[in-house]
Amino acid sequence: MSDSYDFAIIGAGLAGSFCADLLQKDYPKLCVLEKSRGTGGRLSSRRFQSLSYDLGSPCLHLDTEQFATELMQWQNAGVLKRWPEADHEPYQAYVGRPSMSSLTRHLIGDAKMHTLTRVERLEYLGDSWQLKDANEQTICYANGLIICAPARQTCALLAGSPCSTEWLIRSHTSSQTSRAQWCMAVEVNRELPAPAYIAPDNSIITRIVNDSNKPGRENKFNIWMIQADTEWSIQYADSHHAQVRKALEQEFCRIMQTDPQDVTSQSPHRWNLARHERTPGAIALWDSELKLGIAADWLGEANINSAMLSARHLCELIHS
Ligand SMILES: Cc1cc2nc3c(=O)[nH]c(=O)nc-3n(C[C@H](O)[C@H](O)[C@H](O)COP(=O)(O)OP(=O)(O)OC[C@H]3O[C@@H](n4cnc5c(N)ncnc54)[C@H](O)[C@@H]3O)c2cc1C
Repeated sequence: MSDSYDFAIIGAGLAGSFCADLLQKDYPKLCVLEKSRGTGGRLSSRRFQSLSYDLGSPCLHLDTEQFATELMQWQNAGVLKRWPEADHEPYQAYVGRPSMSSLTRHLIGDAKMHTLTRVERLEYLGDSWQLKDANEQTICYANGLIICAPARQTCALLAGSPCSTEWLIRSHTSSQTSRAQWCMAVEVNRELPAPAYIAPDNSIITRIVNDSNKPGRENKFNIWMIQADTEWSIQYADSHHAQVRKALEQEFCRIMQTDPQDVTSQSPHRWNLARHERTPGAIALWDSELKLGIAADWLGEANINSAMLSARHLCELIHS
C-alpha cells in the first residue's frame, strides 16, 4: 500500500519548498515530490568535479518589506546571506548559503521528500488524490494536492483532472510564453577587474555573474556564470553544445577583455522553461472542494518574488 498524506506538493523549487514550510505545522503528514535529483528547481546548483556553481537564478531578488520576517529568520538560520552587489531595483539580492539549495532544503524541513520522482498523472478519487508515475504505478495518495511546477508541466498535470477550464486556459496561456535560456559556467585562472554582476548591452549575453564573489561560499576557484540573451537562446535552442559553448566563450572574452587561454568553460545548460511572461489573474489558485491548489512564479511577475508571494497566498487560502 502506498503512503497517504495530508498534502502532496509537486515540485521542490522555491514555491513548493515555501509551501512545505508554511503548511508543516498544521499538516504534519506532508510530502514533496520532485523529478530532479535535488531541490531548488530554477534556483539549483551544479557540481562538476570539485566545482560547484549556481546554474539558475544567481540570487534571490526579494521585496524586503513583503518578506521582512522570512529574510530575518533565514539569515538567522544561516541559510541566506545578503549580496548587495546584485541588487536590482526594487529588489534586494540574497544568496543561499552554502549553496542555493540550502534554503529550499531548510524550508522542506521534516516533510517527506521524494526526489527523482516525476508525477505523470493525477486521479481524483472523490475525496482524495492518487498520484501516478509514467508506468501508471501509484506514487502516493493525498487528501490535498498542490502543484508548484512551471506552467507547461502544470497544464499537462491538470489535463484530465476535474479542475476548472479557467485553470487549464491560464496554465496553457502562460506555457505559451515560456522561453528557453542557455547558461554556462566559465572558470578564469586570474582575477578579473570587473564588477560581480554585469548586464552587457548589445550582446548575445544578457548577464555575467561572478559566482565566486557570493558571500558565504567557500569557492577557491574563480567562476563566472554566463546567461545568454533569451532571443539568442531561442534562435540557437537546438544547436550543438559545442557551437553554443564557443559563441558564449568568445563573447565573454570580448566583454571581459580576457585571453581565451585564461578561460575554461563548462558544458552549457539549456533551461527549457527558464522564464515566463506575466499573465493576468490571481497570484495563487485554490479549489477548496477538490482540495487542489497551484502556486508558482508564473501566476505573478514570473520571478523569485512572485514564486514566494504565490506560495504564501495559497497557504493563506488553505488556512482560511
Ligand atoms: C538562468 C535563470 C536566471 C534567473 N534569474 C532570475 C533573477 O535574477 N531574478 C529572479 O527573480 N528570477 C530569476 N529567474 C527566475 C526564477 O528562478 C524563477 O522565477 C523561480 O525560481 C521559480 O520558482 P518556482 O518554484 O515557481 O519554479 P521552479 O523553480 O521551476 O520549480 C518547479 C519544480 O517542479 C519540478 N517539477 C516540474 N514538473 C514536475 C513533475 N511532473 N513531477 C515532479 N516534479 C516536477 C521541477 O523539476 C522544479 O524543481 C531566473 C531563472 C533562470 C532559469
